[in-house]
Formats: sequence, C-alpha cells, structure tokens
Amino acid sequence: MFQGKTAVVTGSTSGIGLGIARALAARGAQIVLNGFGEAAEIERERGAIAKDFGVKATYSAADMTKPDEIAGMITTAETTFGSVDILVNNAGIQHVAAIEDFPVDKWDQIIAINLTSAFHAIRTAVPGMKRRGWGRIINTASAHSLVASPFKAAYVAAKHGLAGLTKTVALELATSGITVNCISPGYVLTPLVAKQIPDQMKTRHMSEEQVKRDVILAAQPTKQFISIEQVGSLACYLCTDAAAQITGANLSIDGGWTAQ
Ligand code: NAD
Repeated sequence: MFQGKTAVVTGSTSGIGLGIARALAARGAQIVLNGFGEAAEIERERGAIAKDFGVKATYSAADMTKPDEIAGMITTAETTFGSVDILVNNAGIQHVAAIEDFPVDKWDQIIAINLTSAFHAIRTAVPGMKRRGWGRIINTASAHSLVASPFKAAYVAAKHGLAGLTKTVALELATSGITVNCISPGYVLTPLVAKQIPDQMKTRHMSEEQVKRDVILAAQPTKQFISIEQVGSLACYLCTDAAAQITGANLSIDGGWTAQ
C-alpha cells in the first residue's frame, strides 16, 4: 500500500508512536524511528520492524526540544531514503501540577516537545512534499486538544496549539496534494498511562480494576481503553488515497469522551 513511501514518526520508541510506525511498515512504508530509550531496546525494535515487514528502518536520536536536531532528522531521512512522504508528529510528555506550582522548566519542555517540535518538522519536510505533490502530515494531539482537565495546563495548551497548527498548515497546503490532520485519542494503555496505575492504587486504596474504571476511564463513556492498533489503523487510513479530501480535521478516537 505504502511501498516507496518513507515515514518519519517522532516519539516512536514506545507506545502510540511505535504502534503507528509498525502499522505503516506493515503496509510497506520505510520507517524512521525517533525517541529516547535504551540503545539495545531501540535497536531491537528497529530490527523487528525491518524483519517483520521487510522494509528499511532507521533510527534518529533527535531531541524534540532542539530545532537543529529536528531539522537534521528530516534532512537525513531525505538523504537516506530520497523523500519524507509521511510525517507523524507524535512525541509528547505530560506533567500534572496546579497552575501556581507548575514548574516553569516543565512548561517550556512540554510546549517544546508537544507543540514546537511539530512546527520544526513540518517546516523542514514541506518543501520536499510540495516538490513531489504528495504528503501526509499527522499530528498526534489528544482529547485534550478539544477539552481541558485541571492540573494539565501545559499539556492542554500545547495540544490545543497543535490542533490550531494543523488547521493553519492544512489551509496553506490545501492545493498541494498534502493533507494535514490531527488524531485525538482518549486514554490508550501505553507505558505512559500504565505507570500511573500503581501510584493511584496506593493513593486511593483501590484495586487495579477500580483505578482503570473509576479514575482513568471515568471520562471515557465506553469504559474501554483505545488500543495502539486502533490508532495505528486510523493513521494508515489518513495516508490512503481514500482520505485525500480529509484535511484540517481533528479526528477523535476517544470512546465518546469529547461527545459529552
Ligand atoms: P510514551 O511515553 O509511550 O511515548 C512517548 C514517546 O515520545 C517516546 O518514544 C519518548 O521517547 C518520546 N519522547 C519524549 N521526549 C522526547 C524528546 N525530547 N525527543 C524525542 N522523543 C521524545 O507515550 P504515548 O502514550 O505513546 O504518547 C505518544 C503521544 O500520544 C503523545 O503526544 C501523547 O500526548 C499522545 N497521547 C497519548 C494518550 C495516551 O492515553 N497514552 C492519549 C492521547 C494522546
């Protein structure tokens, strides 16, 4: 399906990004992985993508807080593979604190990784996409790009910003054969979310099931987590010709969360 296309997926050493990278590779795309982690584990994931799907896969260690490294990741991918056709801006972190206690360095880091990195990757990848007359830009936003929750000021601000960036760039590129969209998941059981469960169990004297149902999934009407594979499938759909007229959209995949 995506043979001959190259996809850069930021924050793809774990969770949703890795799931999107594997889903795109399963449909034939060459992959540039990015993100932090143990070198051996990253090499294992990179090798597994190449072996499982018979595609080329490389890894970029670019830090999404560093504009030069982000631009370098895109230009290196273009040199290595000849093009960047699919760009998935997915890297993201979270920090939870009351506004008056919100650490200034955490605010800056979240805005840099969750919002500004997408600007740098997009501005660097767009000239090549325009030359070829085809491109897919997908930004992993969140239900928090549409609604807020207390104590997540930086995350909610960054994700709302990412939704605005998506719409703006979609309009600018509307006649270029390039679509630009957000995917906005509710809760997906990635390492990021799983790590919070033991603390919640201890603090609230709840079982694992109670924490999942009554705390984490409280806002999610289906009372089920979204799976990484479901997010991966949606990303792949956006890369097909069938989705060529979907641009500037913010696609919820949130078990009904933002319908409330
Ligand atoms: P995760 O922690 O499993 O993955 C985050 C990825 O970002 C990792 O690969 C990590 O190494 C990378 N990363 C972090 N800082 C980086 C930096 N400075 N430079 C490069 N890479 C960096 O989390 P996840 O749950 O898979 O989240 C992925 C995206 O999905 C995030 O943007 C997150 O906001 C969004 N999201 C997650 C959920 C959820 O419930 N898990 C819901 C909605 C949106």
